[in-house]
Amino acid sequence: MDSITRCLHTRSEANGARPSVTPLYQNSAFDAGSTYFYTRKNNPNVEEFEQVVRELEHARHGVAVATGMAAIRTCLEQLRPGDSMVINSLVYGCSFKLVQRFCERFNVHLKIMDLSSPGAIEAIPNGTRLVLFETPTNPFLKTVDIAKVAQAVKASDPSALVVVDNTWATPIYQHPLSLDADVSLHSATKYMSGHSDVMGGILLTDRDDLAEAFRQERFYSGAILDPYAAWLLRRSMQTFGVRLERQARTTAGMREFLKGLPQVQNVYYPEIDGHQLRGYGGILFIELRSDLVPRYMELLSALRYFGSGTGMACVTSMIAQPYTGSHASMTDAEKDEMGLSRGIVRLCFGLEEPEDLRRDLTEALAFIDQPVATSVTV
Ligand code: PLP
Repeated sequence: MDSITRCLHTRSEANGARPSVTPLYQNSAFDAGSTYFYTRKNNPNVEEFEQVVRELEHARHGVAVATGMAAIRTCLEQLRPGDSMVINSLVYGCSFKLVQRFCERFNVHLKIMDLSSPGAIEAIPNGTRLVLFETPTNPFLKTVDIAKVAQAVKASDPSALVVVDNTWATPIYQHPLSLDADVSLHSATKYMSGHSDVMGGILLTDRDDLAEAFRQERFYSGAILDPYAAWLLRRSMQTFGVRLERQARTTAGMREFLKGLPQVQNVYYPEIDGHQLRGYGGILFIELRSDLVPRYMELLSALRYFGSGTGMACVTSMIAQPYTGSHASMTDAEKDEMGLSRGIVRLCFGLEEPEDLRRDLTEALAFIDQPVATSVTV
């Protein structure tokens, strides 16, 4: 056999190998006779990740895609020119921009509403084809009543889509499909990855027609999750529950602690009603005392254990300023409209010892509360 042919055709005889975890299927194509076809359509690692999340959220179908943004875009693709949709005003900045750009380009009527405010759900216009929101909201962690939105929207159009971005609530603490949402979607890049080292997204639904539409869209748009990302995510999911439990405990404790600090004007934490939201994880917002806001960059330098990158919900603690970070793509007017100022700070608590984090925050906040050092001229 020619060496080139040998290089091409030698395959290990893996029969008898019994790996304890599913190996990585790093291949684009499958041989004839396989139950798989082509990795842009599906792949064993992608399917295994889908199964884990599907089971956690008791969903009939899971469709994994490349990122959280791809999950949102896959939903938007269900709209047609002339349709109307509603987006909640308190959402991740890039989701807002994606929807705004999509609607402008494809002639979809967009209404921006604050669905957490009294009377807003009743005011959703008749004939709305899709409603997209996060609950708890980003920022401010307010609650949008999922069942009430579903009831209101479906009263005028039973086939309308209620889409909940469930990333911050997590598939453990909130199950939108059981509250009559059509789709629950996640950025798997956050809690599910948990280590700031992989990107992914997933759509969950109980509707067979929607699952089929999402799979077709994923196949033709090429937005499927990469097998290696799926393999990493599946591995990370093994510690998801214990990570979340610890983050939740630390964060609940931080809520009271932060309220007692003189440099903190407000603490935002969601309402855990035990029905819609049955627990809460590791992200909260504080509002810095207004005179300290210009010293935010000094706060970052003074903190030892809080990273300042865009990552969140991972094993190490993070700090971010949504105004210049997660919501940077919105205009200043749009941020004003949603009540987002530079003083709002997002804190994500990792797995560090809570006492270390409390000491770090106390010292760093006290540091920026000192008068600015000025040079003395003689
Ligand atoms: N949804 C929410 C609530 C998010 O916070 C993010 C990102 O921060 C996304 C969607 C987008 O996810 P990804 O970065 O995986 O595309």
